[in-house]
Amino acid sequence: MRRRSINCVSCPRLVEYRTGNRQRFPAYFNAPVPPSGPRSARLLIVGLAPGMHGANRSGYPFRGDDSGRALFTALEDAGVADAIPYRITNAVRCVPPGNRPTGEELGNCRRFLNDDIATLWRPGVRSLRCVVALGGVAAASVDRVLERRRSNFQHGSIDRSLPHLAVVHSYHPSRLNMNTGRLKQEELTALFVRVAALFS
Ligand code: SF4
Repeated sequence: MRRRSINCVSCPRLVEYRTGNRQRFPAYFNAPVPPSGPRSARLLIVGLAPGMHGANRSGYPFRGDDSGRALFTALEDAGVADAIPYRITNAVRCVPPGNRPTGEELGNCRRFLNDDIATLWRPGVRSLRCVVALGGVAAASVDRVLERRRSNFQHGSIDRSLPHLAVVHSYHPSRLNMNTGRLKQEELTALFVRVAALFS
């Protein structure tokens, strides 16, 4: 069954791009990619944008490309996948040319990230406990939604200054970062081991 999506047209460049992609890749999802995972999630993972041949093809964030394989392997190996309800989304929901959304596009799409965090995070009750931002751009978007002063992005940092909510930074498991060794699979797994410890 095909996943449902919103028909958002707020970003003309991305709308034009996804319209063209429907011609080039008719079997792909080619629409704003909704988050995946339960609304009772206690962990939210925020990436940058759908990958052309990953989320933009499958309709699920990080599903179907090398970035996703690295992320899901880390979640499995760290014991997160079976123990902690998690949800995955992106700072922008439409695939951008060259994987680079503009600041305006990030701003346009922030309302969806805002809605998602507002739904999940209810301080004082059993709710969202940790946000992992994958990459500096996603981290900046999370900061804006949480109305925090922009933090310095640092892989492995864990900020606990908000009530009942930890904000974790990780390099994005992009093919570039993994191929250049900036982020190794074992480092990504180790980061999620630390994330899992926040729940113990
Ligand atoms: S990136 Fe977000 S705001 Fe822009 S068109 Fe897609 S869904 Fe709408």
